[in-house]
Amino acid sequence: MNKKCSKCGVEKKLSDFRNRNEYKTGLHVMSWCRVCHNNLCIEYRKKNIEKMRKWQNEYYKVRKVKDRKKLFARYQVLKALRTNKIQKSPCEVCKVVKVQAHHEDYSKPLEIKWLCKKHHFEKHQVHHLQ
Ligand SMILES: [Zn+2]
Ligand SMILES: [Zn+2]
Ligand SMILES: [Zn+2]
Repeated sequence: MNKKCSKCGVEKKLSDFRNRNEYKTGLHVMSWCRVCHNNLCIEYRKKNIEKMRKWQNEYYKVRKVKDRKKLFARYQVLKALRTNKIQKSPCEVCKVVKVQAHHEDYSKPLEIKWLCKKHHFEKHQVHHLQ
C-alpha cells in the first residue's frame, strides 16, 4: 500500500511515513513522508540556532557595555580618591569603616554609595531580584 506525501507529492511506502507512536511534538504532520519531516526538523533547528545566536550576541553586547561602564566608573572612583576629590565614608547601613564603592548608575561614576562588603553584596542581590 502506498501513500502520497502531502509535502513533496511523491507516493511512498507506508513505512516511509511515521506511525502514530512517533509523533511526539506538534511539529509533525501525519501525511508527510520521513524525508520531508527530516528536512523540516533540520530547518526548524537551524532557525532556532540562528535565533539563539542572535539573542546571545545581543546579550553579550549589552553585558560588554555594562562591564566597560563599570570598569570606567571604578577607575574614576580610584582617581577621585587619590586626588582627594571624594572621601570614603562608613557603610550607610552598619557604619563599618572598610567600604566599597557602589554605583546605582555606572554612567555617574562619582555618585557613590559606600557600603561594606556584606551590604554591598546584599544590594546587588536585591538588584538581581528586581
Ligand atoms: Zn515527502
Ligand atoms: Zn554594612
Ligand atoms: Zn555595587
